[in-house]
Amino acid sequence: MQKAYKNVCCRCGKERIVKRVWKERIGNSVVENTETVCPDKECQKIVDRDLKKQKNKRLQMEKRKEESLRKRKKKPNTLPLKRKYRYN
Ligand SMILES: [Zn+2]
Repeated sequence: MQKAYKNVCCRCGKERIVKRVWKERIGNSVVENTETVCPDKECQKIVDRDLKKQKNKRLQMEKRKEESLRKRKKKPNTLPLKRKYRYN
């Protein structure tokens, strides 16, 4: 199901313009992706920067989570013995 929707800039409220449309195959279905930008170049720059920041923050958080999980899982006296034979 597809519905037409208006994409409004989250910063200035202007209607965003479609920069590019591309189709992506996910499994058995083709999904249409649309990239929109703000008509105001300066505004779009700031939006992009904020998005990047958010993404970085998320990545860092995930990394930290992973690391703490790994640390918790690490038990110094339970090295897998099988490995010894596999890499003979
Ligand atoms: Zn804008």
